[in-house]
Amino acid sequence: MKPKYIVLDRDGVINVDLFDYVMDTKDFKFEEDSYEALIELGKNGYEIIVATNQKCINLGLISFEGIEKINNYWIDLVAKAGVKIKSVEVCPHRDEENCDCRKPKTGLLKNAENKHKISLKNCFFVGDKISDIECALAHGCIPILVKTGYGLRSIQERGSRENLTIKKNLNEAVKFILNEA
Ligand SMILES: [Mg+2]
Ligand SMILES: [Zn+2]
Repeated sequence: MKPKYIVLDRDGVINVDLFDYVMDTKDFKFEEDSYEALIELGKNGYEIIVATNQKCINLGLISFEGIEKINNYWIDLVAKAGVKIKSVEVCPHRDEENCDCRKPKTGLLKNAENKHKISLKNCFFVGDKISDIECALAHGCIPILVKTGYGLRSIQERGSRENLTIKKNLNEAVKFILNEA
């Protein structure tokens, strides 16, 4: 099976956005049916790239290792069902640092592309914020906005993006993607 790639935001897509920072594995709760959605993607030959802004690192609230520990926690749960997460790309920067990777900038996608020698152009990118949508469009990915996390607020903010694909949650987005392919 030729690999297909998909980009996912983490907070508000994979896990419940606390509207605060996920600082410990006990704060990490899968969004409704998102675990099943990740498994379904894996079973259908999708390689999963996660692109997540975590300015809490450079705000000094948690270490990079702390974020890694939380990611390893859920990645291990997904791996138990035989699905490997290919890459988790983390931006630790605050807005003021003006980095190249904080979404809507596309550095996280470029990092994954360079690391794995792949292209993420024309891949689906599922996110709950307009910054995800803008990142997807800037990089040539196909954005899908979910209503979980900040999604309902983002629908208000979407402005002129009238024909943006909007789904209830990651699981519904994945069903849509698998039907499209
Ligand atoms: Mg999010
Ligand atoms: Zn950054």
